[in-house]
Amino acid sequence: MSKYWSPLAGSLEPYVPGEQPKDKSYIKLNTNENPYPPSPKATEAIKAAADSDLRLYPDPTCDILIKEAARYYGLQEKQVFVGNGSDEVLAFAFAAFFDPAKPVLFPDITYSFYKVYAKMYGLQPKLIPVEEDFAIPLEQFAGNAEHTGIILPNPNAPTAKLLPLSDLESLLERNPDRVVIIDEAYIDFGGESAVKLIPRYPNLLVIQTLSKSRSLAGLRVGMAFGSEELIEGLDRIKNSFNSYTLDRLALYGAVASLQDEAYFRETTGKVMETRERVAGRVAEMGFKLTDSKANFLFISHPAIAAKELFLRLREKGVLVRYFASPRIDQYLRVSIGTDEEMDAFLAALEESV
Ligand code: PMP
Repeated sequence: MSKYWSPLAGSLEPYVPGEQPKDKSYIKLNTNENPYPPSPKATEAIKAAADSDLRLYPDPTCDILIKEAARYYGLQEKQVFVGNGSDEVLAFAFAAFFDPAKPVLFPDITYSFYKVYAKMYGLQPKLIPVEEDFAIPLEQFAGNAEHTGIILPNPNAPTAKLLPLSDLESLLERNPDRVVIIDEAYIDFGGESAVKLIPRYPNLLVIQTLSKSRSLAGLRVGMAFGSEELIEGLDRIKNSFNSYTLDRLALYGAVASLQDEAYFRETTGKVMETRERVAGRVAEMGFKLTDSKANFLFISHPAIAAKELFLRLREKGVLVRYFASPRIDQYLRVSIGTDEEMDAFLAALEESV
């Protein structure tokens, strides 16, 4: 605590992001990045944007990207919001839709940033424990009156488990006066997006990112889709905070990426194929694992502690993620890399058990 800090700065428990080692020789499977480069068309567009008009401010309305994202999903432009990574979009959504007077509900286990945002905005997080097999007990997400809103990732992180749209619909129907946020950071690796439910549910906000399935984690682009009413709520927060959210490189790169459907399908398809192969091998080696519909596996060895395995793998040059929180401290999260990277991971894992 410093005497210069506000009570808020003193009270926060900031998020600790996954390690980004300077040493490039690691096989880096710890932060769910895509192993393939972004679409060459996106890279070209970023270079062209860097060569022209960086002197000028970007378009504060992010018009070209909003148009392209609306076209991509068959929505109206007023149903689309874009921000500087989905982390920023999530931060705006927490501020826009949740009332500090009532609890905001999310599963325990989930993306650890939610707790950080809840604290930042003085909200009351109410964590709903997941079941033994990491299923989210939707019936325990109380109806309307008892809370201010719900947020959950689909697939969940770090468990990688996917909920069918029918489950999300029942949650939306039971909470017509509350916003239900579905964080679809990993939806493109085998899930079905809830975007198609937007015309029927004005209380649904879907958040996506270009960081995972579009290989653009370094560009920082996130998107939200929802009713005009919800998008207007996000705009109110954004314009009170930073009206120039996306820079010129991000705007042009993101548009080109969304236009390259063939490359997107090819690379996400490859990640899913590799995931299935590696999941099979890991299961044969005696690990327990969830049915992943994300670009990572969530695995546990019956006899060796996750932290110990993490250290053994690290020594062999493979970086994965382990968790300290009690319910998942026996699990490793392993991002899906290229086939070569995953073969090296499997070899290191075999030597480590
Ligand atoms: N939501 C979930 C569930 C995530 O795992 C992540 C990535 N750590 C994000 C959101 C944020 O992604 P980004 O800010 O790169 O868009």
